[in-house]
Amino acid sequence: MNINSPRLHNLNLNVRGIQPSSTLRINELSNRLKSEGKKIYKLGLGQSPFPVPAQVIKSLQENAFQKDYLPVKGLSNLRESIAHYFQRNQNIDCEMDDVIIGPGSKELLFILQLAYYGDLIIPKPSWVSYAPQAQIIGRSIHWLPTRAENNWQLTAEEIDLVCRDDPTRPRILILNYPNNPTGCTYSDSQLRAIAEVARKYKLILLSDEIYGELNYEGNHRSIAQYYPEGSIISSGLSKWCGAGGWRLGAFVFPKEQRPLLDAMAIIASETFTATSAPIQFAAVTAFNGGTEIDNYLNGSRQILAYLGSYFYRRLKQMKIDAVQPEGAFYIFPSFANYKTKLAQREIFTSIALCKALLEDTGVAILPASDFGFPSDFLSVRIAFVDFNGEEALNAVKTQFASKEIDDTFVTDFCPNLFDALNTLETWLQAL
Ligand code: PLP
Repeated sequence: MNINSPRLHNLNLNVRGIQPSSTLRINELSNRLKSEGKKIYKLGLGQSPFPVPAQVIKSLQENAFQKDYLPVKGLSNLRESIAHYFQRNQNIDCEMDDVIIGPGSKELLFILQLAYYGDLIIPKPSWVSYAPQAQIIGRSIHWLPTRAENNWQLTAEEIDLVCRDDPTRPRILILNYPNNPTGCTYSDSQLRAIAEVARKYKLILLSDEIYGELNYEGNHRSIAQYYPEGSIISSGLSKWCGAGGWRLGAFVFPKEQRPLLDAMAIIASETFTATSAPIQFAAVTAFNGGTEIDNYLNGSRQILAYLGSYFYRRLKQMKIDAVQPEGAFYIFPSFANYKTKLAQREIFTSIALCKALLEDTGVAILPASDFGFPSDFLSVRIAFVDFNGEEALNAVKTQFASKEIDDTFVTDFCPNLFDALNTLETWLQAL
């Protein structure tokens, strides 16, 4: 064989056997069907429906001229603003030097795994990208089981079970709450129990709190309060600030893990160099907060809380079990009650279910197999984000300012969500 043949090179790729991120694939397929004239309900991609707050946009406009490379760990003002944000909101003892900025928290997660030589421990279900990142880098992955009856909570016992045979082995545990794909979060006592076992085994605990501000009660608590010496908090602008496409993420490190932060900065310096300058300047405004941002967040939470309970209720009426979300914009229902009927249509896997649903009804959702489950586990992730977030926020400020949100809000301001559920109901009835 010719040494330069593309086939030979392909055999050596680090991404062998790994598909492009499923979320992006379903989005592309939805876009294609849409361009062919089919009505698509975009409940697949986990993108915030809300606009970036006006004052943050203004700040970006005012900083468009910023053209210089910024320091590799990030703009000092931004690192300071993020440290203050975590002091203010989470009572975390941190300062500017504990913060690193990156082009999205996803990239920071990747270079963390590159910098730290350890196994990856993740709950099942988990966000689609943790495991492929570990695979690309060549790390071992341990999936920890969780159950719907237990609100998909990871328990201290399960963590202990994985660690006890080789207690000093280096490991990264990723905890993500409010959770993608379940919308569930953890109580204080559950966080304390996980913190205790993490301390026992000296785990690096990557606490992915990117949806923290979208806890519906507005009372998200970081596990770093209970395991300060080993927790790295992951945050960013993508979810609470509606700015996924701006690509800005941040990690906050404990002082004890500073060498790891420095190692990530070395990798960053040889890869992305620094995060986009104007975006970093605008992010200072976002993390400084204030009344306008508080109002924006309160409106976002109110809307998402109502939609979470609305989806839970409507799905229950269709005999589809789910756990009611407590944060973020996802629900993770099970179609197990339709197993026999689906089998009659030769639908045996969550992928086949999502494909049939997309083709028959235009409803785009993601299969449970993308989140770590075996293919025949008939659950799916629904992202209830297909609505105009700007109009919805305005409605909360005006016509729903003095009354509770009700079902008319869904029909009037989230018609695609209303139609998608009706279409799903009809499809299930016809099975
Ligand atoms: N973590 C979770 C749980 C997510 O759902 C996402 C985005 O979907 C990310 C991290 C990545 O976010 P970013 O846009 O900061 O890279």
